[in-house]
Amino acid sequence: MSIAPRRLALLAPLAALPLVLTGCASASGADDGTVDVMASFYPLQFVAEQVGGDRVTVRSLTPPGAEPHDVELSPAQVSRIDGADLVVYLSGFQAAVDDAVAQTSPAHVVDAASDTTLRPADHEDESEEEHAEHEHGDLDPHFWLDPSRMPSVVEDVAATLTEIDPDGAEAFAANAAALSQRFEDLDATYAAGLQQCDVRTFVTSHEAFGYLADRYDLEQVGISGIDPEAEPSPARLAAVETIVRDEDVSTIFFESLVSPKVAETLADDLGITTAVLDPVEGLADPDADYFSIATANLEALRMALSCS
Ligand SMILES: [Zn+2]
Repeated sequence: MSIAPRRLALLAPLAALPLVLTGCASASGADDGTVDVMASFYPLQFVAEQVGGDRVTVRSLTPPGAEPHDVELSPAQVSRIDGADLVVYLSGFQAAVDDAVAQTSPAHVVDAASDTTLRPADHEDESEEEHAEHEHGDLDPHFWLDPSRMPSVVEDVAATLTEIDPDGAEAFAANAAALSQRFEDLDATYAAGLQQCDVRTFVTSHEAFGYLADRYDLEQVGISGIDPEAEPSPARLAAVETIVRDEDVSTIFFESLVSPKVAETLADDLGITTAVLDPVEGLADPDADYFSIATANLEALRMALSCS
């Protein structure tokens, strides 16, 4: 308690700074001459950083290690959105960000939802009441877990950065080409790694892997539905238990940013194991990145599904 007031006193001038800077947000709004980018959560932050390189300053609206679905924004963050040269977000995923973008006028906006065709969310395991609590509508937001869908976002970010900073055109194009190639290579690695598997059904606590399952011909069974904080009903747990027995499922996956309690209890009851499948919504480990997490996910899936 004794430290808090002093820290607040130190932080206050910093928090006020972006408000001052928004007054001169022209071609390059960041104070060091780079393009000032606000990304709404990690995978989009990663794309903006990789494409923009040292010509951009990228900040994320979701703190590192935080769960992005129900992020709340401070007034300072909202004013940073307003003053940003570029906002990169995914409409329909984070209600607070949707509201902030609608209420402000950032110079440029990339909405990743316009770069890919989002699939409908699977709602068959939810009651009407659970469904009504959703904040992200009827579309499944988790497209970034299918790497083949990422290059179109990369291209959109590169094209928009080029509008903002034409001198960076060559750098953005080269960075975008290299990044898109990495996503395409990862897609090929996934396809090969998940081709020959004894089991094609996997159980996850948070139903974030529908795009991945679609792409590589797997079946996702979610315990808690598409919202990671939702509590599964007893009926849902019983249905999952039946699937686990019928499909010879060996592993129940949980994720790093949400409590594994439900997954662990269920796995204990069934005498099977748990493992981490990371939805790449935020970085729990600051040394990780999109590709290292995706590679670890592939290894975990290959192990659980007995792939050769
Ligand atoms: Zn999610």
